[in-house]
Amino acid sequence: MALRKILSDNHPVLRTRAQEVKNINNVVCRLIDDMIETMHDSEGVGLAANQVGVPKRILVASDCQEDAKVYELINPRCEEVEGEEVGVEGCLSVPGQYGQVPRYQKIIVSALNRKGEKVRLRLEGLPARILLHEMDHLDGILFTDKAVRMLDPDEMKSEEES
Ligand code: ZN
Repeated sequence: MALRKILSDNHPVLRTRAQEVKNINNVVCRLIDDMIETMHDSEGVGLAANQVGVPKRILVASDCQEDAKVYELINPRCEEVEGEEVGVEGCLSVPGQYGQVPRYQKIIVSALNRKGEKVRLRLEGLPARILLHEMDHLDGILFTDKAVRMLDPDEMKSEEES
């Protein structure tokens, strides 16, 4: 496994719609391993492949539970959505900035795993928010595009302390 460089500052690949994965091979599996290592190294909770310069529809995300399982999703697609809530988000590709972003509260996502098997996830709250944030990356969308309000650094400080 190896760390990959996380792209930021509106790098063009962050604004590119990522392509479907047609062939799940060793290159894809190695990329997923590297993305997980890179996400953990950066203390992030999710990472999309185009954030490390690969415009393919692949994401990894923490399940936010104590066992800290990582979802590995290839060609993810939102099948059902329900509700909406606003929450604070940041992004490894937008360092130091945080904003309040409305997201669906509950989602059902289908995708392929690294064995090429179809998986279906029913998520709500924070894990749903993380997946929606990462799926937006795959469409070239950043959370700053959807934020209803960006926080100023002092506000974020008090948020972290509380
Ligand atoms: Zn992000």
